[in-house]
Amino acid sequence: MTRSLTILGATGSIGRSTADVVLAHRDAFRVAAVVGGRDAEALAATARRLGARFAALADERGQDALRAALAGSGIDSGAGEGAVMEAVEREADIVLAAISGTAGLKPTHAAMKPGRRIALANKESLVCAGEAFMTAAREIGAEIMPVDSEHNALDQALAAGANRDVETAIITASGGPFRTWSRERIAEASPMEAAAHPVWSMGSKINIDSATLMNKGLELIEAHHLFGLEADRLGVVVHPESIVHGLVQWRDGALTAGLALPDMKVPIANALRHRERLVMSLPRLDLAAIARLSFEPADEDRFPCLAAARAALRAGGSMPTVLNAANEIAVAAFMAGAIRFYDISKTVESVCSSFSARKLPAPATVADALEIDGEARRAARQLLPDALEVAPS
Ligand code: NAD
Ligand code: MG
Repeated sequence: MTRSLTILGATGSIGRSTADVVLAHRDAFRVAAVVGGRDAEALAATARRLGARFAALADERGQDALRAALAGSGIDSGAGEGAVMEAVEREADIVLAAISGTAGLKPTHAAMKPGRRIALANKESLVCAGEAFMTAAREIGAEIMPVDSEHNALDQALAAGANRDVETAIITASGGPFRTWSRERIAEASPMEAAAHPVWSMGSKINIDSATLMNKGLELIEAHHLFGLEADRLGVVVHPESIVHGLVQWRDGALTAGLALPDMKVPIANALRHRERLVMSLPRLDLAAIARLSFEPADEDRFPCLAAARAALRAGGSMPTVLNAANEIAVAAFMAGAIRFYDISKTVESVCSSFSARKLPAPATVADALEIDGEARRAARQLLPDALEVAPS
């Protein structure tokens, strides 16, 4: 059965993998709309390739370029926030939400409609405003399907039993480029070295988060909201091969694991169609050829961002929102060469501790989340070198 699909963040890493899945299954999807950030040409090319009905660019300055690039295609277009909102309002059975960062919150939230499936890649929606999102999804009757590989694997593993029988849900981490480096060597690492991910090919911010293990910390928070599991029932294990993505330890001692080759097209296809699995002609996992799968504990001493994220999850309230905002600012400063690797965790820790006494409740709305996000960004910027102007919110 053909489903209509809208892709938010269509020109990014997840968006491009989604386009590959759609192009391999032309009969399974009809593309309603595609949304991009700034690159009008790339968005127009994606819209043409996918035969989308509508293309929206977030940056309104790209309006003319987008229109010119779509001339003669019959594809409607618009630019600016209103156009992005028009894209999410258009009829679609599924919305794949893959805008990066907190910019994804508003459109992803607005995309929740009765009976609609949200294939959710934008983890920030859950990290910054998890309670608001999960409550809205329940009230509206929208379904949230995780695209993130670990959560997608967990979603499949959890289907083997009842939530009350889960002892621990475990997500794996590749360990990032510094898995085997000493703390001293990591301290001197350059942005280039941090961005070189050993397994996955992704957007640059998430690469740095993989090097600090903050990505895994954010994913614990994401898992908490998606599956309703508290911090003490969530775990992380480092698994450099990235073949096992998520594991459920049941209370009877049995374990159910989700395995796949590390290719985001696998969880994307699963999130888009869920129980109506698509035929994917990707290479198959050959366990005998791989021969060995290895696991090791996550080292919170060399990767203090993981500990900071765990602490934020335990503290609850708006601490995960604060953590995420401080991290975005610190990562941008690191990528700009303004601070060193361990200044990322130091910035995050100081901002979190400066908010901790206030015990702010979990944001009830996206607007509340964005307000706390803005405040935490300002606090983070004040800790960074004066002359530096990084990552405007
Ligand atoms: P990316 O930077 O490659 O792509 C981001 C996309 O969002 C681009 O299309 C960009 O044009 C668009 N965008 C940026 N700002 C926008 C704005 N203000 N309005 C509208 N569109 C905007 O990022 P990515 O790696 O594809 O990641 C996207 C999301 O998926 C992130 O939240 C990330 O954490 C999550 N995720 C990514 C991966 C991965 O393998 N890349 C895995 C799991 C989860
Ligand atoms: Mg992941």
